[in-house]
Amino acid sequence: MIVLKTNRELALMREACRISAGALRVAGEAVQPGVSTEEIDRIAYEYIIKQGAKPNFLNYNGFPATACISINDEVIHGIPSKKRVIKEGDIVSIDLGASLNGYNGDNAATFAAGKISPEAERLINTTRESLYKGIEAAVAGGRIGDISSAVQRYCEERGYSVVRDFVGHGIGSKLHEDPSVPNYGTPGRGVRLLPGMTLAIEPMINMGGFEVRQLSDGWTIKTKDAGLSAHFEHTVAITTDGPKILTVE
Ligand code: MG
Repeated sequence: MIVLKTNRELALMREACRISAGALRVAGEAVQPGVSTEEIDRIAYEYIIKQGAKPNFLNYNGFPATACISINDEVIHGIPSKKRVIKEGDIVSIDLGASLNGYNGDNAATFAAGKISPEAERLINTTRESLYKGIEAAVAGGRIGDISSAVQRYCEERGYSVVRDFVGHGIGSKLHEDPSVPNYGTPGRGVRLLPGMTLAIEPMINMGGFEVRQLSDGWTIKTKDAGLSAHFEHTVAITTDGPKILTVE
């Protein structure tokens, strides 16, 4: 069931999203060679708590941390650990959210640790840009497939592949709501986009093939061919005035 939000609900959700964006910013600023992913997670946790909000990934389906932190060929759902220390040249995807007033925010970005390769930088830039292509297509009266195909086309034209096994989602009083928002699809197909819909649009883009596998920790998702992967996400509201990114400070 797709829940459309009133303007009052969108205003409440905007607050949860603002805190989510701030937490992602401080977590990203902490990405440096020599820092453990657990330290980054703690920084995000403390930021969210200090703002009076709650980390909404923590204990979600048993996830043990505030942030999913996924390095290099890890796509999503990496578990922070003090043993996992970031190295020069790593690319570090951080995905996290906060809940406040009964509403959720969710956002992600991939950060560079020190100096990274030009190839890694191009992957990051393309993935970020594909998110904005998807957001531009999130227009009332359109369809989910408009978003999906905008992301897919932008990335595939540049030689990358789009993860199939994980997709974006509706978001609101629940972290994951209907509809699904795939990063691949056909323009003009799928659910109709309506004002009041709130979507987490989140391209997960691989340098090699789109296939992924899950590690034995039950969470971490890696690329099957060990190629690099990047991930960007915003929570977006569809309004009569066009798409509005909610996960901004
Ligand atoms: Mg999400």
